[in-house]
Amino acid sequence: MNRKSPFSYVCNACGLCCHQKVITLSPYDVLQIARAAGISTREAIARFTIRRGSILKFTDQGACVALEGTRCGLHRGRPLACRLYPLGIEPAKHEEAEKFVTLEPAAGSLGVYGLDGTVNNFVEAQGVGAYLEANARYTSLLAVFHERIAATVDFDRVEPRDSGGAP
Ligand code: SF4
Repeated sequence: MNRKSPFSYVCNACGLCCHQKVITLSPYDVLQIARAAGISTREAIARFTIRRGSILKFTDQGACVALEGTRCGLHRGRPLACRLYPLGIEPAKHEEAEKFVTLEPAAGSLGVYGLDGTVNNFVEAQGVGAYLEANARYTSLLAVFHERIAATVDFDRVEPRDSGGAP
């Protein structure tokens, strides 16, 4: 699907989609989580993420640690993947425009899917613009980061990988 494709979705805050997921985070996601929680990025990484800030943390029972009842305790700063849900995105590459896909609803979800809007209406209403811009800038620097970090830091020695909370 592209931005002009027919799509609509109404979230009825059942909270079911906030379980049993693997949600990767960008540095911009972590920054927004920290702002929404009113804590430092270091604290946000410890409280809301695993794998050094790269994946959202879920409890052993399968709920996102930010879920409060059936509502997101970080709604104002929720990550890009949560904003886009139930759409997924393949970012624009070279000459190709970004693509969107519809993700499977959580079993029993109260969300209502429809076609009375467009993908663009939906994603713009979720405030994804700044996230996509930040990610595009970051992606363009990734190769350089990887090279420089790999040359200077042995992460598995200085900070062994954790596995707690992985869904
Ligand atoms: S950050 Fe919020 S919207 Fe995203 S999975 Fe957690 S509770 Fe759900």
